Amino acid sequence: MATNAELLDRRNKAVARGVASATGVYAARAENAEIWDVEGKRYIDFAGGIAVLNTGHRHPKVMAAAREQLERFTHTAFQVLAYEPYIALCERLNKLAPFKGPAKTVLFTTGAEATENAIKIARAATKRTGVIAFSGAFHGRTLLTMAMTGKTLPYKKNFGPMPAEVFHVPFPIEHHGVSVEDSLKALQFLFKADIEPSRVAAIIIEPVQGEGGFYVAPDELLVALRRLCDEHGMLLISDEVQSGFARTGKMFGIEHSGIEPDLIAIAKSLAGGLPLSGVIGKAAVMDAAEPGGLGGTYGGNPVACAAALAVLDVIEQEKLLQRADAVGARIKAKLEKMSRSNTLMPMAAIRGPGAMVGFEIVKERGGFVPDPEATKLLTERALALGLVVLSCGVYGNVIRILVPLTAADAVIDEGMDLLEQAMKVAA
Ligand code: PMP
Repeated sequence: MATNAELLDRRNKAVARGVASATGVYAARAENAEIWDVEGKRYIDFAGGIAVLNTGHRHPKVMAAAREQLERFTHTAFQVLAYEPYIALCERLNKLAPFKGPAKTVLFTTGAEATENAIKIARAATKRTGVIAFSGAFHGRTLLTMAMTGKTLPYKKNFGPMPAEVFHVPFPIEHHGVSVEDSLKALQFLFKADIEPSRVAAIIIEPVQGEGGFYVAPDELLVALRRLCDEHGMLLISDEVQSGFARTGKMFGIEHSGIEPDLIAIAKSLAGGLPLSGVIGKAAVMDAAEPGGLGGTYGGNPVACAAALAVLDVIEQEKLLQRADAVGARIKAKLEKMSRSNTLMPMAAIRGPGAMVGFEIVKERGGFVPDPEATKLLTERALALGLVVLSCGVYGNVIRILVPLTAADAVIDEGMDLLEQAMKVAA
């Protein structure tokens, strides 16, 4: 088999540079929370394919369900000949989602399609156009979702003009100087300066920001947004693409706040590694779009639907909501201990619900000045030691841990020990 270096060389010649890779490692096979590269080196996977593998690589039940569907048919297009796994999955998701009344679901393929279609549905339901998102948010790379994403570089550079009617307000991060009050004031300012609330279709928010830095949306903010949406007839969209499917200790991250959104965008860990996404929402809102207005050739692929049904079984049978809390507590206990060490890079703000754990690498112990260079060094060293771990954050200084919830404690501990080694500073 080719080496990592050979593949990197071929990649550089054949693949457009616009799609970046966090590592120069080429995967050969994977199992639960472990990956082996083309040279036979073993890695512990704390990235989970960017939050896709809450049930691990190749969970046997997910594999069996996908295999069974592969033997029947792989594609008909739901818009041509529909099939039961799509309907069964929508039924399951409608029951699981935190809506008091009846819910409906539509399926797509990618996270960006989910968030973009949530906006289309919100516009159809409200007959309004405005969209409000938050700084640091990540909602995708298509034109509309790129506009919604609250970070210019690298996502927006040279790709303009942005679609109209998309606005941002600052996401509250207390230790970086933005309070909930600041965010809400900015929203009122936006209503005065740029768009009156009666023209706003939706506010979209991640209950825990993913790419933006694993910053938790405070309950106080979510409650205030719900109140404002009710007051002005705007819809509230929860982007659960990264926070969904047991990662936070609940099926959906928004459940921690107790508020009911109008629409939920889902993807990533929904189908255990197969491409599948969707929008779940209040039935009346979901039915606002005309027949034919939503969909896509591959949306709700039957193999992915079969896999997703198995993922939901695994979450229930293996009690992954409780497991997320236990995994998160284990990781946080170790991080807290590490944060007291003088021989490790200074860290701060260990946080996150369930197993959606992040922390910052900072210039000085006790401070919050971001150190993106040290963060980069950490992820590179970790990789060399055999741990795949991702950074994120508007300041590029957050380490996020997305280990499969199905990982054995021994593997998690081994990964945390490698993380600790990667954080050692010269004495
Ligand atoms: N929303 C969130 C919260 C995400 O984290 C992502 C992907 N990182 C997306 C949307 C876009 O998903 P995709 O890359 O599948 O289009």
